[in-house]
Amino acid sequence: MVDNRGFLKVRERQTPPRRPVPLRLMDWREVYERQDSATLRRQAGRCMDCGIPFCHNACPLGNLIPEWNDLVLRGDMQEASERLHATNNFPEFTGKLCPAPCESACVLGINQPAVTIKQVEEAIAESAVDHGWLEPRPPERLTGRTVAVVGSGPAGLAAAQQLTRAGHTVAVFERADKIGGLMRYGIPEFKMERAVLDRRLAQMEAEGTRFRPGVEIGVDITGEALRERYDAVVVAVGATQWRDVDFPGRELAGIHQAMEYLPPTNRIAVGEQDVPGLIDAAGLDVVIIGGGDTGSDCYGTALRQGARSVTQLDIYPRAADERAGNEPWPTMPKVFSVSSSHEEGGDRVFSASTTRFVGEDGRVSGVEVVEVRKVEGRWTPVEGTERVLPAQLVLLAIGFTGPEAGPALQQLGLETNERSHLVRDSRYATGVPGVFVAGDAGRGQSLIVWAIAEGRACAAAVDEHLMGSTQLPFPLDAHARPLTV
Ligand SMILES: Cc1cc2nc3c(=O)[nH]c(=O)nc-3n(C[C@H](O)[C@H](O)[C@H](O)COP(=O)(O)OP(=O)(O)OC[C@H]3O[C@@H](n4cnc5c(N)ncnc54)[C@H](O)[C@@H]3O)c2cc1C
Ligand code: SF4
Repeated sequence: MVDNRGFLKVRERQTPPRRPVPLRLMDWREVYERQDSATLRRQAGRCMDCGIPFCHNACPLGNLIPEWNDLVLRGDMQEASERLHATNNFPEFTGKLCPAPCESACVLGINQPAVTIKQVEEAIAESAVDHGWLEPRPPERLTGRTVAVVGSGPAGLAAAQQLTRAGHTVAVFERADKIGGLMRYGIPEFKMERAVLDRRLAQMEAEGTRFRPGVEIGVDITGEALRERYDAVVVAVGATQWRDVDFPGRELAGIHQAMEYLPPTNRIAVGEQDVPGLIDAAGLDVVIIGGGDTGSDCYGTALRQGARSVTQLDIYPRAADERAGNEPWPTMPKVFSVSSSHEEGGDRVFSASTTRFVGEDGRVSGVEVVEVRKVEGRWTPVEGTERVLPAQLVLLAIGFTGPEAGPALQQLGLETNERSHLVRDSRYATGVPGVFVAGDAGRGQSLIVWAIAEGRACAAAVDEHLMGSTQLPFPLDAHARPLTV
């Protein structure tokens, strides 16, 4: 540790600058700018190099956070990149998109603002790109074994990269026209530009991973044929079966699911023309039902499209600004958070439950909401608080239940549990020999960091299945629950 008094000298937590709101509303580019290297080093130097680094435990990947904070402080970005890539295949994705449970567990966070771990991670990842340290790492020899990965989100990609580097011949099948899973068409460009994904895919291709976009397993190739052709199959199909509502008026035109709205808009954001199914919020009053991150992505998207007003409804009350007593350190507390989208305008309404949609000529024109309070464990309407919010576009962002039911799962003989997630054991194996499950498909809609961790661990289990033993890391078992989220 270079400076064991760094956290005493630099008390202020400084996150990277954000582009001015009026500017960023005019385009789809990323909101955050780079932090200058002097500030970055000072921030990394706040790390206390704790004897027991709780941050490390809170990261599902087990990222070696104090080690790379120290290397950044010393200015050794290349070694920092080595240490970071030792546990994380795609630190640029997590550096930009992770909600950073590690920071909630930072020991400094007990009585000072936590170290900016996520920003340091992103800066190391970007530095590796700038300096050309992201060279392909193809295997020295091939094993002659073949693996099919179904689904190209972060879980499928992490599994594919680990297995390719272990010498197996890996093909990634993706039903969409491009590789990337939710990072391609779900997550908005202003959170992570697609070029970031593409440069990583180029590295993977150069290492030997074969990408097969536009192929739906179960339709274009049957599950049975896949099992016959490959020695092992990793099912990483995500959990994008959305929840719906059945309030009166649900049938009105102008009410859409978030995942009907975001993917076509994301295509426009990267310059595609004549995108089918595009829903344009320009000039409309938009109401988003659901107070989570998917809702916040719709929020920023609608503002960029030029919506007249944007309102996000949350059934929960506004969270406290500080950690509550029943969510002690190092758990990830439910504190009030303001996403970059929320900074850009619009309105958030808390403790609001939707009762019905109001319409004119078959189109939605408003959303009736009522204030709710918890009475004996149930959200109960407060009489006399009903009101109608104007809305010509309503977006439903109330979560996902599990993987979409499709022929592939049946053909592969996979079972679902009581939560509609695909059943696998603690080593990612299903009851079908040679078939494994990783990512949201097995754990439910979650986070990129968990998907990468599962992909890495699943790859180790597959390697062991194919070769009898493995040297690949196994960061977690499939039933591990988050320490903090
Ligand atoms: C709008 C939105 C925003 C999000 N933002 C964040 C964020 O900021 N940070 C974060 O950490 N997490 C975020 N998440 C969650 C995160 O994206 C997921 O947890 C993660 O992508 C899961 O990875 P996965 O590989 O398991 O599945 P996915 O990324 O869902 O990928 C599964 C892929 O499988 C493909 N597929 C399905 N069936 C078949 C088939 N039969 N044949 C071929 N291909 C198939 C699908 O087309 C899809 O591309 C967000 C989620 C959403 C919906
Ligand atoms: S991946 Fe997420 S939890 Fe892990 S170190 Fe990075 S920001 Fe923290």
